[in-house]
Amino acid sequence: MISGISVSPGIVFGKILLIKEEKICINNTKIQEQDINLEIKKFFDARNKTIQQIQLIQNSNTTKLEHDQNAIFEGHIMLIEDEEFEHDILSLIKNKHCSAEYAVNSVIEKQVTTIENLQDEYLKNRAIDIRDIGARLIKNILNINIIDLKNINESVIIVANDLTPSETAQIDTKKIIGIITNQGSRTSHTSIMARSMEIPAIVGVINATKIIKKNDFIILDSINNEIFINPDKNILNLKKKLKTKFVIQKNNLKKIKNLNAITTDEHQVEIGANIGTPQDIKGAKKNGAECIGLYRTEFLFMGKKKLPSENEQFEMYKIIAQEMGNKPVIIRTMDIGGDKNLPYIKLPKEENPFLGCRAIRISMLYKEILHTQIKAILRASVFGKLRIMFPMIISIEEVKFLKITIKKIKEELKNEHCDFDKNIKIGIMIETPAAAIISHNLAKEVDFFSIGSNDLTQYTLAVDRGNDLISNLYNPLNPAVLHLIQRIIISAHKEKKWVGICGELASDERATLLLLGMGIDEFSMSSSYIPHIKNIIRKSNFKECQKIAKLALLEPTTTKLTSILQKHLDKINKN
Ligand code: PEP
Ligand code: MG
Repeated sequence: MISGISVSPGIVFGKILLIKEEKICINNTKIQEQDINLEIKKFFDARNKTIQQIQLIQNSNTTKLEHDQNAIFEGHIMLIEDEEFEHDILSLIKNKHCSAEYAVNSVIEKQVTTIENLQDEYLKNRAIDIRDIGARLIKNILNINIIDLKNINESVIIVANDLTPSETAQIDTKKIIGIITNQGSRTSHTSIMARSMEIPAIVGVINATKIIKKNDFIILDSINNEIFINPDKNILNLKKKLKTKFVIQKNNLKKIKNLNAITTDEHQVEIGANIGTPQDIKGAKKNGAECIGLYRTEFLFMGKKKLPSENEQFEMYKIIAQEMGNKPVIIRTMDIGGDKNLPYIKLPKEENPFLGCRAIRISMLYKEILHTQIKAILRASVFGKLRIMFPMIISIEEVKFLKITIKKIKEELKNEHCDFDKNIKIGIMIETPAAAIISHNLAKEVDFFSIGSNDLTQYTLAVDRGNDLISNLYNPLNPAVLHLIQRIIISAHKEKKWVGICGELASDERATLLLLGMGIDEFSMSSSYIPHIKNIIRKSNFKECQKIAKLALLEPTTTKLTSILQKHLDKINKN
């Protein structure tokens, strides 16, 4: 049995498709003068072939492929059609007498090394994109067969080093039933795609492609983070039973997913989805989201070579607004900084990026970014029910400044005779201890709050949310965090404002009864968790939850508090 990081839940068993890196032999000997034109022709032919292959994937996937994947492929084509890229390659062939594949490889490697040296999580993913398209181009120069995931005619579990964006775009969920990769994290491209396609996946399995062999039979149990290679009958039978149970549970949840999130004593809350791209709306709707409680717009900013224009942003927000119709969509202004950087905004290196120029601080430093984004949201607001939300607020001054900015942009739009929702709701994320402590005053200034429990936990406990070394200390069920959450809810309600939660705690079943009891009005989470949390809410009693919350908050330790919550959750789950 081996394991890694479970990123998409489920149990599947079957044959595997081992995607081994093809050995690419690059000719590094100098070519003859008379072969220069031949090598140049090889490059151009391969480039045309590569573009055709990519366009074929794009065309054959139109129903599945939505904006973001198209953008990834557009980016690939743009990269190999780039004049500078072409110039650098031709110059190596002509002046240094390099073979076509050697020239392409050198230029790609140079770009990748520059990016990888920046130690930036997002750019590292872009480096994968560059390598992906570079490898395809080189394979085409060398006439190496490229594995086309579309041609698979039986169900398989893919085992690969990692899947490239172009590979994930070709996945047919009827054929590819599971994914195991050597590399990856919860937020890597493959993980995000596996979750959105609901394919069970375990990533970050060290040496998976070496340990698992071509004809092996695999059980992939990403509920328990277990991969069994050629298991015995007992294990297989056990896992078959577990799978049946999981499928029954999932099907039962399907029946309730479109019902209201209402307790047995008729206390109703709203359940929304967190999305990163318009593509995620499909999953949100499928799982019964009543709203988009958090649209993380930074992904729109990150997938580009330059700042997306007002029109580009407008189009994106418009699609989301229209897709969701009369269901509210909370658009959070970009939360760049911390571990998410933009290649086109050069900020000085910071010692503590999470305490540095992040989120609203960047928007306020580069006011044109804020202006463009708000204008685009306001213009799109007539196509649905949009709300604006600002991340990482710490003061009343910031909120006042943001409200004035919105007012000015509204004036501008009026003068331009451009329509917008005049009563658009303005909210803030409460994700810093500062905002939580002054929430009684902040609540007077805005229409709603959304609790960012991920950051609220990291800033309250002074525990970096991405640091493995201290991950045992990162616990949103720490009483310190929960008391702040209680304070935030009380502050909002005192001013008759509603308060939601969009951090991971919203989908943590141990916290559902507690949050309900504390009076949270809206839960927003990754779509696939919605039916399960809705089910718990529908089985619980609000008055009971209020008592549980009161009791739990009296507990001085995380351990005791968690065990109280677990005990009550177990009771609910038995029903
Ligand atoms: C949070 O901090 O809880 C949150 C939802 O925002 P993000 O995870 O994008 O920082
Ligand atoms: Mg946050």
